[in-house]
Amino acid sequence: MSVRSWGNYPKVEHAAVIAQPWRHLPLPRAEGSLLPGGLARSYGDSCLNEGGTLVTTTRMDHLIDFDRASGVLRCEAGISLAQILEIVVPAGWFLPVVPGTAFVTVGGAIANDVHGKNHHAAGSFGHHLRRFELLRSDGSRLACSPGENAALFRATLGGLGLTGLITWAEIQLRPVQSATFDVETIRMENLAHFFALSGEPGSEKPGSDPSAYMPGLGSDPGFSDPHEYSVAWIDALAKGGAIGRGVFMRANHAGAGRKGDAGAKARLAVPFDFPAATLNRHSVGLFNSLYRARASSKWRKSREPYGKYLFPLDGIARWNRMYGKPGFLQHQSVVPRADAAAKLAEMLAMVADAGEASFLTVLKVFGEQTPAGLMSFARPGVTLALDLPMRGAGTLGLLDRLDAVVRDAGGAIYPAKDARMSPETFRASFPNLDEFRPHVDPAFSSSFWRRVTR
Ligand SMILES: Cc1cc2nc3c(=O)[nH]c(=O)nc-3n(C[C@H](O)[C@H](O)[C@H](O)COP(=O)(O)OP(=O)(O)OC[C@H]3O[C@@H](n4cnc5c(N)ncnc54)[C@H](O)[C@@H]3O)c2cc1C
Repeated sequence: MSVRSWGNYPKVEHAAVIAQPWRHLPLPRAEGSLLPGGLARSYGDSCLNEGGTLVTTTRMDHLIDFDRASGVLRCEAGISLAQILEIVVPAGWFLPVVPGTAFVTVGGAIANDVHGKNHHAAGSFGHHLRRFELLRSDGSRLACSPGENAALFRATLGGLGLTGLITWAEIQLRPVQSATFDVETIRMENLAHFFALSGEPGSEKPGSDPSAYMPGLGSDPGFSDPHEYSVAWIDALAKGGAIGRGVFMRANHAGAGRKGDAGAKARLAVPFDFPAATLNRHSVGLFNSLYRARASSKWRKSREPYGKYLFPLDGIARWNRMYGKPGFLQHQSVVPRADAAAKLAEMLAMVADAGEASFLTVLKVFGEQTPAGLMSFARPGVTLALDLPMRGAGTLGLLDRLDAVVRDAGGAIYPAKDARMSPETFRASFPNLDEFRPHVDPAFSSSFWRRVTR
């Protein structure tokens, strides 16, 4: 049975796709190896298990307990972040970390230890996880937390679904006064401008101090952006001194306002796979000009529903179909801050010179927090994400050259977005790999894992 990941590449067949409908059930009898599956919002093959069994969890979507006084939420692992936000925001709570789409499950968020636009202030999803239960292939059910089965807890955060199936999880939410965000949109001229905006000396305090609800985390001493959320979209077609031009968007939760519906609902849908040639230099160039026109003045302030700021693409269902049948590849890397300006300029120049049109190119500074998991991708540094249409050997060659820059910088490539990195790049990206291996459940595997450990 075929299941497509978000990038529609690679396309693989599974021996079986079986739903796990309830957290109390044992694992299904499987053909070949097992891999838990969420909403398949991973781009490449980390959520695929060619020739084996995918155990889908999206029917395990029940809320188990929600303490409205303390903001502690316990839920089944197949519930989506969109479903959780619909319930908790009207009660004055918010998920402490969300990725760029709300259509991911809690299990998927843990297995990739996802990060959001507030990483510099709040760390990753795993930093706010109190406990979860892991169902292993020997039938055991292990409660894991920082104080109980702690090694397995750390291995499962960013553990790519390989340590067992997470049945439920307990998350510490953060309080909010409103469902809206106060957003500043700033026209960004180049990379130097990005770094100036990201490290701007803090004159004002953030709307809410993350250290108040995250004991031990504190705010990042090396990064003085007073905004809790920030991200930059850049025009990857720009060259020379204009490299890095784009739009910088920073925000805080609004201090007051409505708590009602402001989430992520798809209002449009892409009804079929577009012809593969639709996204080319010309159409992407036009999009980039229109997008930059949003920031026609140098600086604009607005109050926006949380869905619009946090999940801008969730308004268009199945937007991945714009890339047509061949699909697309995302390349998300992180490089240490010391070298970041030079390395990012080098990578962006490579993409522009290759004549490749990256439709969505995103830059963000990560905070200094120690990663929550053994295999967490998010770590101190600057992250760059590029989306490239799959055009065969030329695209793959460019991505290999980008990997070489990242390796040279001592950085990492994000497995959640990957479909082609080499075992060498994977090992260089995850220095704790040998410590992680013994925690892998012997019955579990994935297409990604076999590829990067061969
Ligand atoms: C538009 C878009 C924007 C994104 N933005 C970001 C971002 O800003 N930051 C970021 O970090 N990521 C981002 N992502 C990636 C996404 O957050 C991750 O790939 C996430 O893991 C997907 O969750 P999922 O429920 O779709 O899981 P899947 O993609 O189905 O699976 C992901 C992994 O989780 C494992 N898994 C799933 N459920 C369980 C379970 N119950 N128990 C154990 N393992 C399980 C799977 O085996 C697999 O290894 C984005 C993706 C998209 C499409």
